[in-house]
Amino acid sequence: MKLKKGDRVRVIAGKDLGKDGVIMRVLRDKDKVIVEGVNIAKKHQRPTRATMQGGIIDKDMPIHVSNLAILCPTCGPSRVGYRVAADGTKSRVCKKCQKDL
Ligand SMILES: [Zn+2]
Repeated sequence: MKLKKGDRVRVIAGKDLGKDGVIMRVLRDKDKVIVEGVNIAKKHQRPTRATMQGGIIDKDMPIHVSNLAILCPTCGPSRVGYRVAADGTKSRVCKKCQKDL
C-alpha cells in the first residue's frame, strides 16, 4: 500500500473519473481507501435505535487504489516511488519530480 491517510489523490478510473479528494481511511487488507466525496453511494437506511433516523443517506464507499493516482503538489497526478537514504531510511517520492511526498 503506497497511499496513506491524508494524501490528496485523483480518480483515474471508474464513475468518479477526474475527481480529487483526500484519503480519509486506508483499508490495508483490501487495497482500498475511502476518499472524501468520492464513490458516494446512496444508502437506504432503516431507522435504528442508534440513529433514530431513516431515509437515504450519502456514504463514502471504499475505492481500489488502482483507480487512484497520488497528486503531487508540483506536477499533479503522479505515481509513488521510494528513495532509500544512505542510512537505510526509506522515503516516499514523486516518480516524476523525485520530490518527497
Ligand atoms: Zn512531482
